[in-house]
Amino acid sequence: MKEPFVSVHDSVYVIKEWQDIAPNLVAGFTTKEGGLSLGAFKSLNFGFHVDDCAEDVCENRQLLGGMLDFPVSNWVGAVQTHGDRIVAVGKKDKGKGALDYETSFKAIDGFFTDEKGILLTLCYADCVPLYFFSNKSNRIGTAHAGWKGTVLGIGFEMVKKWKEDGIRPADIEVVIGPSICKNCYIVDDYVIEKVRSWVDSERELPYAPVNGQKGSYYLSLQLLNEWILMKAGIPRENIKTTHYCTSCSSEFFSHRRDLGKTGRMIGFIGWKEK
Ligand SMILES: [Zn+2]
Repeated sequence: MKEPFVSVHDSVYVIKEWQDIAPNLVAGFTTKEGGLSLGAFKSLNFGFHVDDCAEDVCENRQLLGGMLDFPVSNWVGAVQTHGDRIVAVGKKDKGKGALDYETSFKAIDGFFTDEKGILLTLCYADCVPLYFFSNKSNRIGTAHAGWKGTVLGIGFEMVKKWKEDGIRPADIEVVIGPSICKNCYIVDDYVIEKVRSWVDSERELPYAPVNGQKGSYYLSLQLLNEWILMKAGIPRENIKTTHYCTSCSSEFFSHRRDLGKTGRMIGFIGWKEK
């Protein structure tokens, strides 16, 4: 499969194919390069909640706003809780969670909008960023899917909400972004029990046992999300999955690899006003 993410800067990957279709669309993912944060957060950390210096996080956000030509005053952010709650946002929400944690949307792991001039942002360090786009309806969305959000079906939930608004799954494109790969991600029976409720035996299973370790499995959150999106009605050919792993590649922060003490990247999507 062709890689959907193209590096345009040391700090930024974009979903090139979508930007080619819709030149006013800004969608992508950051690396950890090119910011001001120090220590475990070196250097482009966007997380307010990880014990980094708040001024540095704000400065990093201003820097990204400049790189994307999408001012930080037009961003929205969330206090993410690995749930499946998704909210529709609009211009009235601009700036919430952009430069502090307190004004962020509480207990939200997904955003969507039909409006221009607002950048939807969510933070990541191994969890899966899902990006949704319906060119026909001018609608965009994004969701944060770690293992909990994934098995809760946050991808399914997004498609369900769009269907309720009359958007056909065949008109929705989805990109699965940089996140921890199967080889780097070992889980236990507790997680796999929940995974099994989504999968049947017709396709390649998203998990495999770790040799010689009873109760341990390699889990592909990317493949599991593909299963879930297809169950929601998204055609296989509308789903593109990245090859980038946040744990394999040192250009990203990784919660697992860095043993919990690390920064956060941002996944973003928005329509520019011009
Ligand atoms: Zn990996």
